[in-house]
Amino acid sequence: MLELNKKSKVKGRWNLTELFKRSTVDESRDDQQDMCSRELLSASLWYLSLRALVLFCLCHFISGYSEVDRANELMSKYPLIDGHNDLPLQLRIHYNNSLSLTNLSQLEHASTSISRLQAGHVQAQMFAAYVMCGAQQKDAVRLTLEQIDVIRRMCTEYQDLVLVTSTRELREAEMRHKIACLISVEGGHSIDSSLPALRMFYQLGVRSMSLTHTCNTPWAESSSKLYNVFQRQGNSLTGFGKAVVEEMNRLGMMVDLSHTSWATAWAVLNHSRAPVIFSHSSSYFICKTSRNVPDELLHELKKNKGLIMVNFYSPFTSCNHEGNVSHVADHFDHVKKVIGAEFIGIGGDYDGGKSFPKGLEDVSKYPAIIQELLRRNWTEDELADVLRRNFLRVFEEVEKVRDWLSHLRPSEAHISLEEVQNPCRLVLKHPDLSSTAERKPFNRLVLTTILLLSLLFWID
Ligand SMILES: [Zn+2]
Repeated sequence: MLELNKKSKVKGRWNLTELFKRSTVDESRDDQQDMCSRELLSASLWYLSLRALVLFCLCHFISGYSEVDRANELMSKYPLIDGHNDLPLQLRIHYNNSLSLTNLSQLEHASTSISRLQAGHVQAQMFAAYVMCGAQQKDAVRLTLEQIDVIRRMCTEYQDLVLVTSTRELREAEMRHKIACLISVEGGHSIDSSLPALRMFYQLGVRSMSLTHTCNTPWAESSSKLYNVFQRQGNSLTGFGKAVVEEMNRLGMMVDLSHTSWATAWAVLNHSRAPVIFSHSSSYFICKTSRNVPDELLHELKKNKGLIMVNFYSPFTSCNHEGNVSHVADHFDHVKKVIGAEFIGIGGDYDGGKSFPKGLEDVSKYPAIIQELLRRNWTEDELADVLRRNFLRVFEEVEKVRDWLSHLRPSEAHISLEEVQNPCRLVLKHPDLSSTAERKPFNRLVLTTILLLSLLFWID
């Protein structure tokens, strides 16, 4: 027992020592284990962070890829109809319209070429026949004819392009995988206040005209004060201006309000029987320039069932010369919030200015804006509207109004010389109605006398 106790005491003492030793060993082992655990924990944290990072990057990459993919897929299904392009102006500036000196498939000096249009999924392009306001009251009509000529030539000489003048032809062009060219005249000064000139432009294939560019015309007011001509107070659309709108409605030509003053736009929206377009304008709420459209006008445009085709030009989208895709997307978001996606289109305005947003530098980059709008949760249905269906609806409606008005004769409205204020304007004198009326009995008397004399001679 004692022995046992001794043993146990010894054992106990040994045990305590052992225990102490052990505990010391254990502690150092625990320390080591702790260190190991800490290292392990730290390593696992690193591993987890790395895994999360890789996963995040992968997700980001996959989602980014799918948006690019979705944008391209959507645009293949609903290829773009764009409202405004100034390539013909560049052809005038750089080549004096000599198409033989250029290759439109791979064009230098321009943001537009056939290969870029194809890469950008552009199926129809409204090309502007534009001449500077300096030509007003001078050779604007001749220069406009020359710009129409160069558009017609480029759209017939290149087999990837085709000139169209109706929604039916536009759809046929899509089935034939061709880029449809529509002709628009940019600036009412191009008709030199003449409805016959307007009608002849229509005959040449023009299907849209903006009522002004940066100058007032004798009958409509510009958004710009660049030229100090035809200044007026409270008469933003004259009687002749209304006649121009009515004749465009009768012909089936779209009235374009980009570049007009807001007062003129307001007057036209209340006078036109057909929907109108802003072929290349953005939102004034986002960027405060008179070239953009304020919300109040957007509401009127919605009532008219018209269309605002968002302009990408940086000074109108980011309000300076450095913009990006997000700035442009803000305009789409705002207009959608105010009037809905059914009244929005795209009018890039390429080759009309030099500063275009980063990521939207030329016509091949249109998918970037669709990608951004998809990222902002625009539905594919809304984007199909924006890309082409809204434009087709408006153009079809303009054609319907033309058919309803087919019983009307061409307008014989003339502008007065006082309104035109152009001393060089030649007026071929014609007998006025009163003098004609006075002369009629005299003419009849002469005619009757001649007939009687002839009869007498014949009897003889
Ligand atoms: Zn313009």
